[in-house]
Amino acid sequence: MSVNNPIPFDNSYIKLPKEFYSKATPDTPPNPKLIIYNDEHASELGLTLTDQSEITNIFSGKVLPEGSAPVAMVYSGHQFGHFSPRLGDGRALLLGELIDRNNIRHDIHLKGSGPTEYSRRGDGKATVGPALREYLVSEAMHKLGIPTTRALAVVTTGELVQRELPLPGAVITRTSKSLIRVGTFEYFARHGDTQNLKQLLNYCIKRNFSELKNSQDSPLDFFKSVMKLQATLTAKWMSVGFIHGVMNTDNSSVCGLTIDYGPCAFMDHFEHNRVFSSIDRNGRYQFSNQPSITLWNLTRLAECLLTLYSENNREEATLKFEEEIKNFEPIFSKKWLDHFAPKLGIISPVQSDLELIKKWLDYIESKHLDFTNSFRNLSNVVNQNNSTCNEFNSFCKIWKKRIESYDINQVISTMNMTNPIYIPRNHLIEDMITKAIDGDFQPFIEFNSLLENPYTEQNVDQKYTTAPTKEQIVPATFCGT
Ligand code: AMP
Ligand code: MG
Repeated sequence: MSVNNPIPFDNSYIKLPKEFYSKATPDTPPNPKLIIYNDEHASELGLTLTDQSEITNIFSGKVLPEGSAPVAMVYSGHQFGHFSPRLGDGRALLLGELIDRNNIRHDIHLKGSGPTEYSRRGDGKATVGPALREYLVSEAMHKLGIPTTRALAVVTTGELVQRELPLPGAVITRTSKSLIRVGTFEYFARHGDTQNLKQLLNYCIKRNFSELKNSQDSPLDFFKSVMKLQATLTAKWMSVGFIHGVMNTDNSSVCGLTIDYGPCAFMDHFEHNRVFSSIDRNGRYQFSNQPSITLWNLTRLAECLLTLYSENNREEATLKFEEEIKNFEPIFSKKWLDHFAPKLGIISPVQSDLELIKKWLDYIESKHLDFTNSFRNLSNVVNQNNSTCNEFNSFCKIWKKRIESYDINQVISTMNMTNPIYIPRNHLIEDMITKAIDGDFQPFIEFNSLLENPYTEQNVDQKYTTAPTKEQIVPATFCGT
């Protein structure tokens, strides 16, 4: 069944050679129910859907809208360091693309809509918990100013999906200005398919890196751009205490977006080496490893791009890429400074502020303090007499000295604009999911709307800002399958 053009699709990915995807059709859900539709994002996209049943049918996969051309995208990936030659969208499909009023192209992607050619032994389904988790966390990331895929809708399907226990099934619709991963490059590079690899690079440049269209050395220039975007992203993650949890190359966006929300988490009490993911037994993706893993993933991308050079030119190109890779550290360090210094009210950061930031982080780690609240509450100390500094160890006096030349109000407002009050805390997410599984979606709706304004004090229950008690702490998070 198809309905009349409710979404102005303009599909480009499907025009790539057939090796890039496989056609897929969403399963028909027995009894779809709309849990949330992101009106604000829909309007940014220029969507004019208003009829609830039409929205439900489209974003559950029950009805294929006119102009959609659903495909599962192919990619490979290094998972925890080990290469898997063919992954691809095993529980997701690209419904189609549209171009918004600002001429930005967005993928419309259904996740949990049933098996595809890449499902291997999986069922292609998603359950309501991970779907709501991705919706809530990805939208919270966006409101925190962190590049990410967006969430457009969650629909429960009315069927039970077998996990450890049978759980309600759901489909989440996410949108993205790109879903190309480092793993997409690895797929063609590993298959020695240079022609399609070149097409992939051209596609990325045309769609997301148009400033490179006249580049004389597009693989290298593309690499430099991706490196900057990914370094920025990782620094931004860390500045809010975010741990992605599965930084496999198939989950690493070449556009520097946060993609694939699995066992991700925001830290409560600060620990440099904090790990949440239950499958990350060696702590590969722990908080403090995120920059080095970003670089590791970028190095995999560089290896793919190098295959685009002819043998005569490869040695010279390799040297250039190696030089570029050396720039990661200073680029990342600058981004880290740019994102952490304002959190301490430092308006014009300089290199030596890195030491001060480190001192503060060491302090909150040693005292087992809550990351988010410690940063936020620090602005209350700006106005206080220096004698209160005693309890702040050696950090406070040095810090106060550092900011004394600035206007106090500007310091406080800088801090309050960069230190959120509300983040998607794990124990609150878990609670919200438990209730949703029982059919109560109110906690999800309430939490989600609170997170729309993470920096502004709101008249809400204290539980949203209180660090979890020992009993409430969620020790581990699980993959969203
Ligand atoms: P992730 O670790 O969530 O990024 O997933 C890694 C790979 O496993 C991707 O190719 C997914 O599409 C696939 N996958 C995860 N869960 C399922 C599922 N329930 N059914 C089919 N494929 C899945
Ligand atoms: Mg993935």
